[in-house]
Amino acid sequence: MMWYTAWRVVKGVIGYALWRLGLRWRQLPVGQRFALTMFVLILLLLFPYQWYTLNHFKQALQTQQAMTVQVQLKTAQALLDHDTQALLRNCEDYSVWEEFRDAILERDRRWLRVNVVDWAHQHFYLDVVAVFDMQGKLVLSTQILPRPMAEPSYPLFRRALKGSSGVGYMRIGYSIYQVAYAPVLGESYAPPQGGVLLMAKRLDDARLTRLWGHLGTRVALRTQSPRRSDPRRQEVAPSLSPEGQVEAWIPLYDVARQPIGYLHVQPPQEQVHHFHRSVQEAQQYLLLAGFVITVVASLVMISLLRRHLHAFVAAARQMAQGNLSVRVPYPARDEFGMLARAFNHMADQLQNAFEKQAAQRQEIEQQKEELEQLYQQLQSANRELEHLNHELAEANRVLALAATTDGLTGLKNHRAFHEALTSAVKMAERFGQPLALIMLDVDHFKRFNDTFGHPAGDELLKQVAEVLKRSARAYDVPARYGGEEFALLLPNTGLEEALRVAERLRQQISAIINPYAPITASLGVAAYRHGSSPATLLYEADVALYQAKQGGRNRVEVYRPEPPQEAA
Ligand code: GH3
Ligand code: MG
Ligand code: MG
Repeated sequence: MMWYTAWRVVKGVIGYALWRLGLRWRQLPVGQRFALTMFVLILLLLFPYQWYTLNHFKQALQTQQAMTVQVQLKTAQALLDHDTQALLRNCEDYSVWEEFRDAILERDRRWLRVNVVDWAHQHFYLDVVAVFDMQGKLVLSTQILPRPMAEPSYPLFRRALKGSSGVGYMRIGYSIYQVAYAPVLGESYAPPQGGVLLMAKRLDDARLTRLWGHLGTRVALRTQSPRRSDPRRQEVAPSLSPEGQVEAWIPLYDVARQPIGYLHVQPPQEQVHHFHRSVQEAQQYLLLAGFVITVVASLVMISLLRRHLHAFVAAARQMAQGNLSVRVPYPARDEFGMLARAFNHMADQLQNAFEKQAAQRQEIEQQKEELEQLYQQLQSANRELEHLNHELAEANRVLALAATTDGLTGLKNHRAFHEALTSAVKMAERFGQPLALIMLDVDHFKRFNDTFGHPAGDELLKQVAEVLKRSARAYDVPARYGGEEFALLLPNTGLEEALRVAERLRQQISAIINPYAPITASLGVAAYRHGSSPATLLYEADVALYQAKQGGRNRVEVYRPEPPQEAA
């Protein structure tokens, strides 16, 4: 249960980290993303390749080292054998000497010490020199004489006692010796044999270094059996040590064919170090190369991308400035080609649309111009119409004036007088005010006309009208009732007041001065009685006028209604 929870937490954390990484990744510029991808790819590709190459390199180097090691091992063995043989030759050379034989036989130890043991010890760098008699008994030796060498049963010793020399290797403790036994004889190997000469050299480090130093390898003589080695094998092929180093060895046998040591060869330490350094350097160079390749490839790719995109950016910019004829030339059939074709197609459509729009705009402009013209025409027509209207209104006004005004005198005509009478009666009714009417007729006007002519009559009528106008107050309505008959409507005026006005009028008319003859006028006055009609008022004024005519003319008569008979 606890493990399950831990696993879920770990999974959650990893998931979150990956999600954050993805988010970051998508925000990176394309160049950086490319560089990183390249780097990872190159690393992924390089590492197996590097591993493979290095392994091959290592194997080749090891093979080469193995071959070298083997050759050197053989060389070392040959050198050692040669050295051993040289020891045998020295021993043989020394043992064929008559005086030496005699000295053994005479037991002349002094002579033997000076001429053989010490001399050979010093001049041949021997570790052991010993002289034995024919019974195998030691006569004289150097200070060191390991016991096995003095054992007459030792095969080489035994053979030497029988007259044949021999050489071999002997192990004593941790030391290995070259041992040579030779029979001591007279000149030209002449018998009898005097004894046996033993010469031995210890294979110590100093000697081996002198022997193998120039080989340049680490050759060692070991008394311990190398690991995994089969002591019975004559020669061991080069192999890898547990430290991964090439090594080879060969056993060294004693006279009884028992391995007593091993010649062991390894490549020099510097070579190994050099190899490791080379491998490390190769790895570093490969990494560096990968990095450089990544950077260069990224730069190349970014510049390529930029160069390719520049065409699009420039075209888009020109397009934004209104140059719709711009196109991106890109003949290759890759993604950029597709993009270019899409862009060009879009540009075509835009250009078409703009051209169509321009044509439409021109058309609209033309229509606007036509409309403007039409508007101008309409406006001038309107002005003309307005003028005509004005004229019409003027004509109407004149007409209206003509309809209500008398042409000769400028007073209201018959029709207008009737209208004024009707409205005056209505006003008098509504406000309960008095209303009076004076009717005036020029006396014997026919005679005046006949005597002085119509134009003279017209002039006289104008003068009468002037008198009426002059004496009329603001609300009074003077009018030409017809012919030489006039009317004066007096709103808010009682009968007595109207009578005074009529009397004044009569006097003023009779006072009119004209070039022909004085004239007079008769006047009838009537007052409006509430509840009666305009026609009644007119009738009653007319009745009063008739009475004035009947009464002798040049006078004023008032219509007095009959008092009701029943009441009297
Ligand atoms: P009276 O009223 O005193 O009884 O006599 P009268 O001669 O005035 O009466 P009548 O009604 O017979 O004559 C009216 C004359 O007025 C007739 C006509 O020649 C004249 N008259 C009417 N209108 C005009 C006008 O506009 N101009 C002129 N010059 N004369 C007119
Ligand atoms: Mg008349
Ligand atoms: Mg008259």
